[in-house]
Amino acid sequence: MATTQFHCPHCGALYEKTDSKVVARDNDRVTCVVCRNSMYEAKGQSVPAFKLIKRPENDTQ
Ligand SMILES: [Zn+2]
Repeated sequence: MATTQFHCPHCGALYEKTDSKVVARDNDRVTCVVCRNSMYEAKGQSVPAFKLIKRPENDTQ
């Protein structure tokens, strides 16, 4: 399985992104666990699994 690094575009949290065989519904969103924003949208593709590796330095919560 291919794993790549992925940064949340909103807060910069670092995730390990693993391709999965789960097929997206019409418009499947993956939510960042740090900032709770939608960081990835799968449209008719498979939905990858995201595992949090590192929280952003400026996390104020
Ligand atoms: Zn985030």
